[in-house]
Amino acid sequence: MKRVLVTGSSRGIGRAIAVRLAEEKFDVVLHCRSNLSKAQEVEKEIADLGQDCKILQFDISNREQCNEIISKDIEENGVYFGVVCNAGIARDNPFPALEGDEWDDVIHTNLDGFYNVLKPVIMPMIQSKQEGRIVTLSSVSGIAGNRGQVNYSAAKAGIIGATKALAVELAKRKITVNCIAPGLIETEMIESAPVEEIIKHIPARRLGQPKEVAALAAFLFSDEASYITKQVISINGGIV
Ligand code: NDP
Repeated sequence: MKRVLVTGSSRGIGRAIAVRLAEEKFDVVLHCRSNLSKAQEVEKEIADLGQDCKILQFDISNREQCNEIISKDIEENGVYFGVVCNAGIARDNPFPALEGDEWDDVIHTNLDGFYNVLKPVIMPMIQSKQEGRIVTLSSVSGIAGNRGQVNYSAAKAGIIGATKALAVELAKRKITVNCIAPGLIETEMIESAPVEEIIKHIPARRLGQPKEVAALAAFLFSDEASYITKQVISINGGIV
C-alpha cells in the first residue's frame, strides 16, 4: 500500500489534500504542529474511507525534531511513496514595519521546512527504487511578489527554486517533484485578509476552495502524471 505524508494536514489545504489522497486509496500520514484535535478529526474521516492513517506531530522549522520523528516513522512503518510539503505560515507587514522575528519565522517555517522535512525522506525513497512524488506549496506571492509579504514572497520563491533543483536531481529515479502555486484559497490563513477588495482583482471573481487545490495534488500523485516534473502549476482564478 502506498503511504503519503501531508504536512499541515490538520486543516485548510493540507486537510483537503490528505482526504482526497485517501479517496484515491493512499494510506495517509497526517501531520500538525499544535492542533492535534483537528488532526484527529481528519484521521477519523480517513479511517471511514477505509485507508490506514496516523498522525505525526512536529514543528517543521525544527530540524532535529523533523529528522527524528520522520526517520522513526519510516523505519517502523515503511518508506513514503510521496510527500506534500504543505505546512506554512504568513506574517504580513509592509517592509518598513517588518520585524526581524516576522522575517525569521516565515523563512524558517516555509523555506527551511522544505529541507527539514524532505532531507530524512528522500534517501529512503531513492533506496526503495520505486516511483515517487513530491509536491510543494508555493504561492502566487512567490511568483509575482505581493505587497506586505516580502518575507512570504521570499520564502515561497525559494521553494520554487528548491523544487526545480530537486526535480532535476531525482528525475532519473522516477521521483517527480512539482510545485503548486495557489492564489487566494478560502482557509483560516486568509481570515484577516481584505478579501472583498482582493476579489475585485481576481478575474474569476471568487476565492479558490481547498478541494480544488486537492484535485490538482491528486492528479500530480497519479500514474498519469509520471512525466510531469520540475513544474510550477498555478491555481489562482487568473490573477497572474
Ligand atoms: P492554514 O493556516 O489553514 O493551515 C496551516 C497548516 O500548517 C496547519 O495544519 C498548521 O498546523 C501547519 N503549520 C503551520 N506552521 C507549522 C509549523 N511550524 N510546523 C508544523 N506545521 C505547521 O494554511 P492553508 O491551508 O491556507 O495553507 C497551506 C499552504 O498553502 C501553506 O504553505 C500556504 O502558504 C499555502 N498557500 C495558501 C494560500 C491561501 O490563500 N490559503 C495561498 C497560497 C499558498 P497546526 O494546525 O497544528 O497549527
